[in-house]
Amino acid sequence: MARYTGAVCRLCRREGMKLFLKGAKCFTEKCPIEKRNFAPGQHGKDRKAKIVGYGLQLREKQKTKRIYFTLEKQFRNYFEKAARAQGVTGDILLQQLERRLDNVAYRLGFATSRRQARQIVRHGHVLVNGKKVNIPSYQVSVGEEISVREKSNKLAVIEGAREFSSHQPAPNWLQLDRDKLSGRVSSLPKREDINLPVNEQLIVELYSK
Ligand code: SF4
Repeated sequence: MARYTGAVCRLCRREGMKLFLKGAKCFTEKCPIEKRNFAPGQHGKDRKAKIVGYGLQLREKQKTKRIYFTLEKQFRNYFEKAARAQGVTGDILLQQLERRLDNVAYRLGFATSRRQARQIVRHGHVLVNGKKVNIPSYQVSVGEEISVREKSNKLAVIEGAREFSSHQPAPNWLQLDRDKLSGRVSSLPKREDINLPVNEQLIVELYSK
């Protein structure tokens, strides 16, 4: 499956904000946004023009796509599906992104970032209803139990994430059992459950042109 393999901190610098793609490093002074909060590249410092209209819509889409670490084609597919569904398109778009298995593993504290969560899913450390699911884009449903495979509980990456997220509450739509490294989907995420600095309406306007 195609994935972004470039330097991830550049993505934050491009958006001018922390997207929290690197786990623990994002909370330290080593985060490049702390020292170099300007766009990457030779002329990054010079580009100060105010972004409006199409540019603003484009940046919002890029930012959201990067937060969830998806590529353009997949992100567009989420939008197309949301546009066909009944309800508010922007809300459904975000709901689909939140329901990704890699995002759920991150939200439950099995990984320190969505990028790391994708890796643990790909490597088969995450179970859905007791069965291995190694597809990061898998959409979780209400009632499903998401857990870490027992054999993987002691892996340094999982232990580290457990420690890292020990004070971080799970979102309302997930019931977390931290000791068992397991969580259940109690409802589908609503917009107010998704605390991200994203204006999804701008994305809808961009794709609806
Ligand atoms: Fe973004 Fe984290 Fe890198 Fe900072 S350390 S620029 S928040 S990915």
